[in-house]
Amino acid sequence: MGLEEQLPSGFLLTTVEAAAGWVRKASLWPATFGLACCAIEMMTTGGPRYDSARFGMEVFRASPRQADLMIVAGRVSQKMAPVLRQIYDQMANPKWVLAMGVCASSGGMFNNYAIVQGVDHVVPVDVYLPGCPPRPEMLLDAILTLHDKIQHSKLGVNRVREEQEAERLALSAAPTSELKGLLR
Ligand code: SF4
Repeated sequence: MGLEEQLPSGFLLTTVEAAAGWVRKASLWPATFGLACCAIEMMTTGGPRYDSARFGMEVFRASPRQADLMIVAGRVSQKMAPVLRQIYDQMANPKWVLAMGVCASSGGMFNNYAIVQGVDHVVPVDVYLPGCPPRPEMLLDAILTLHDKIQHSKLGVNRVREEQEAERLALSAAPTSELKGLLR
């Protein structure tokens, strides 16, 4: 007799990690925040035609303290970089970042002194989405890719990443070039 036949009906066996992953991926709340033309496509994705609420993303939050997803939609200027980092730091853990479009992912066509050459120089990125601009369908696909990543993440992985990030920042602030060589 199989195990499922011995159990009373109504029982569902799973693991804490699988349950947490399922809950987290199904309730991502993005921060309201767009930097350039890609933001227009992001806003369209939240509208009735593409309806990102179908995937648990009911509302874009005006406060980073109520958001757990940062969609970086557009190129990041050097002046905006510290602001972006501050918004990221204000978001509660666990949190995720999606780089939307080539500008956010790599600087794109703006290979110049004013633009950060990829937002991963400022915050850790979980999913990179190419395109100029990516269509709403592509953003939805990237969000589903992120869902998959969240579902299969081990509990505590964000905490480990935070510790590594704090260590990296501490090393980068160290005075000697020798210490800077230890950066990961
Ligand atoms: S990737 Fe294209 S659409 Fe998006 S911010 Fe850059 S130039 Fe604008």
